[in-house]
Amino acid sequence: MWDVNQKTLNSEVNFSGIGLHSGETVDVTIVPSNSNSGIIFKRSDIDKNNEISANFKNVSSAKLCTKIQNEFGVSVSTIEHLMAAFYICGVDNIVVSLNGPEVPIMDGSAKDFVKIIKNCGLKKLEGKRKFVKIKKTVKLKEGDKFISISPADDNFKVKFTLHYENSPLIQNQINKINFQEKNLSEVINARTFCLHEDIEAIKSIGLAKGGSLENAIVVQGNKILNQNGLRSKKEFVNHKILDLAGDFMLSGARVLGSVECIHGGHALTNQFLHEIFSDKSNFEIFEKRSSNTNVRKIVPINKRLAINA
Ligand SMILES: [Zn+2]
Repeated sequence: MWDVNQKTLNSEVNFSGIGLHSGETVDVTIVPSNSNSGIIFKRSDIDKNNEISANFKNVSSAKLCTKIQNEFGVSVSTIEHLMAAFYICGVDNIVVSLNGPEVPIMDGSAKDFVKIIKNCGLKKLEGKRKFVKIKKTVKLKEGDKFISISPADDNFKVKFTLHYENSPLIQNQINKINFQEKNLSEVINARTFCLHEDIEAIKSIGLAKGGSLENAIVVQGNKILNQNGLRSKKEFVNHKILDLAGDFMLSGARVLGSVECIHGGHALTNQFLHEIFSDKSNFEIFEKRSSNTNVRKIVPINKRLAINA
């Protein structure tokens, strides 16, 4: 059951960790905020023009992670797992203040973020949560990659197909997740992953400097190099579903729809969000009056635009 009201955290919370791509230690403070302020990333190591709204229109790069940037060129990358934790835990408004260019990778999943949020607890706000109801099927195909969304009433469902031809171990994994279900632990705990033979190429373009077996699953041939193996049978595809949920949180509202994705990633999801929101006949935005009725209040057009600003 969806909550009707927007939420923030009960209090400020701090944590630190290493950035996967930058390799730098970053200190993070998550600060509660007011209704309708959304999720804002703030670079505390930069004096001014240091806020970036977590919106798909601010995505400047989707190469191996999601990076957002404001009009002054200030950016934060690898936001997707923290965004997924906000999505899953029901956080609508928050300021994420950090003294570096990247959200810490933690253990490569959303597990620590969810734990931090749950330990702190949530505070109900006066403002009503915004929902995006998908009104018709929207599709996007890019080479062998495909993504679609169809109307799904009161749900956010994801069916993801992962093809990894270069890995005999990963090969094809398919999973379906209904985000309204209580137990999402397999998705929350699913770590990012890479093939051992790709590591050099990724590092040569300046990425994954902080990558290690502590924060990523590394696959070599038929072997998982991490000592304790996988956390779940479908951990690879579950991580792709986690990424997708985090990237959808950049819509600024709770999307109600059924997503099907084949071989996608951050770039495809971002392109798809642009596609969905470019045509007003694809969706409508509403607030619920109560959790047990279907009475819906359609938000006027000027407010619709404000959501995607
Ligand atoms: Zn990821």
